[in-house]
Amino acid sequence: MKRRIFKEEHNIFRDQCRRFAEEEIAPHIEEWRKNKQVSREVWKKAGAQGFLCPWMPEEYGGAGADFLYSVVIAEEFSRVGNSGFGAGLHSDVVVPYLYDFGNEEQRRRWLPGCCDGSIITAVAMSEPGAGSDLASMSTTAIDQGDHYLLNGAKTFISNGILADLVVVAAKTNPDANPPHAGISLLVVERGMEGFERGRNLDKLGQHGQDTAELFFNDVKVPKENLLGQEGQGFYYLMKNLQQERLMVCVGAVSHMWRILEHTMEYTRERKAFGRPIASFQNSQFKIAEMYSYCEIAQCFLDRLIEEHMAGEDIVSEVSAAKWWFTDTEFRMADEGLQLHGGYGYMTEYPIANDFADSRVQRIYAGSNEIMKVIIAKRLGL
Ligand SMILES: Cc1cc2nc3c(=O)[nH]c(=O)nc-3n(C[C@H](O)[C@H](O)[C@H](O)COP(=O)(O)OP(=O)(O)OC[C@H]3O[C@@H](n4cnc5c(N)ncnc54)[C@H](O)[C@@H]3O)c2cc1C
Repeated sequence: MKRRIFKEEHNIFRDQCRRFAEEEIAPHIEEWRKNKQVSREVWKKAGAQGFLCPWMPEEYGGAGADFLYSVVIAEEFSRVGNSGFGAGLHSDVVVPYLYDFGNEEQRRRWLPGCCDGSIITAVAMSEPGAGSDLASMSTTAIDQGDHYLLNGAKTFISNGILADLVVVAAKTNPDANPPHAGISLLVVERGMEGFERGRNLDKLGQHGQDTAELFFNDVKVPKENLLGQEGQGFYYLMKNLQQERLMVCVGAVSHMWRILEHTMEYTRERKAFGRPIASFQNSQFKIAEMYSYCEIAQCFLDRLIEEHMAGEDIVSEVSAAKWWFTDTEFRMADEGLQLHGGYGYMTEYPIANDFADSRVQRIYAGSNEIMKVIIAKRLGL
C-alpha cells in the first residue's frame, strides 16, 4: 500500500537503514542465535551510523530527528528477521526514561554514550513473583542518606547481559498506600558492587536476544542515580508505555508483511500433485486473508503513529492495536508455517523462526489480556 506518513527524507534514510540491516544484521543472525546474544560491535556500528536514538537532540549526541526515523529503523531491522539486536528497546523505550526524567547532569553523563552505542540499556520491571501486577513488586531501595540500598531480583530482562545501564523499578517506600505510589526508578550501572547477572534464559524464540535474570544484593545506588522524583516511578512507566507498545505494533506489522512475503515465495515454488501449492484455492484464500490483515493493520498503525507524534492520548487505541496486531501476527505465522508443510517446522526456513519469535509479542510490553483490561477500564466498565 502507499503509505502517506513518510516524506522523501525518511525514504532516503530507509535506504541507508535497509543497507545496514542487510549488511550488518542479517548475516549475523545465526551466529547471534547460537551465542544467545548479539555482538557489542553491532551496537557501535549502529551508533556510528545514526541508527540509535535518532530522536535525541544534537546537544546530547543525537540527530534531533522525528519519531518516523525510529519507525523506519524498527521496520527495516524487523524486515530482515532481526529479533536479537535490541536497538528498538534501547532507543525508543529505555533511553526515553533517561531523557524525559533525567536531570541535566544525568543527561550529559549518559545520553551521548546511548547514542554512539558505547552504553547499552535495559529496563527492569518484572520480577519472578510480579509481572502484570507490577505494583506488587518486592525489590526495595531504602534511603540511606547519600544512597539507596537496593535489594531484589528481576527476571526476563531484555538486553540483560549486555546492558551497561539498567533502569530498575524498586520500592523506595514499601509501605506506601496505594502500593504503586512507593515505586521509584533508579539507574544501576555495570560494575556496581552487589549487582549480578543471573542466567541468560533459554527461550522458545528470539534466541539472539539476551533475556536475563538480574540480582541486586545490597547495591549502593547513589542518590545521583534516582530518575526524576522519588515515588513517581510507576507514573513514569505508565506515561512511556504508550510508545513502548506502539513500537511493538510497528514490529508486529512489519513482521506480518515478512510472513506474507515468505509464504507467497514458498508456495509459488513448492509443487504438489503437479501444481504449485499457491494454485490451490485454500492457499490462495489463506494468503488473501494474510494480505488483508497486513493492509488493514498498516492503515490503523500509520494513523496511530501520526496521533502519537501529535502528542495525543491514544492509550486505548494502542492497547487495541497491540493485542490485535500481535495475535494476528502469530496466527499468520502459524498459517504461513502450515503452508510450508514439514519444511516450515525446520529452523533453516525463516517461517519457523517467524513463528517462534512472534509468540512472545502477545506476552511482553503488557500481555494481551492486560491490553483488554486497560480498554475495558477506559470504556468505563
Ligand atoms: C522474552 C521476554 C522479554 C521480556 N523483556 C522484559 C524487559 O525487558 N523488562 C521487563 O521488565 N520485563 C520484561 N519481560 C516481562 C514481561 O513484561 C512479562 O512477562 C509480562 O508482563 C507478563 O508478566 P508475567 O510473565 O509475570 O505473567 P503473569 O502476570 O503471571 O500473567 C500470567 C497470565 O495471566 C494473565 N493475567 C494476569 N493478570 C490478569 C488480569 N488482571 N486479567 C486477566 N488476565 C491476567 C496474563 O495475561 C498471562 O496470560 C519480558 C518477557 C519475555 C518473555
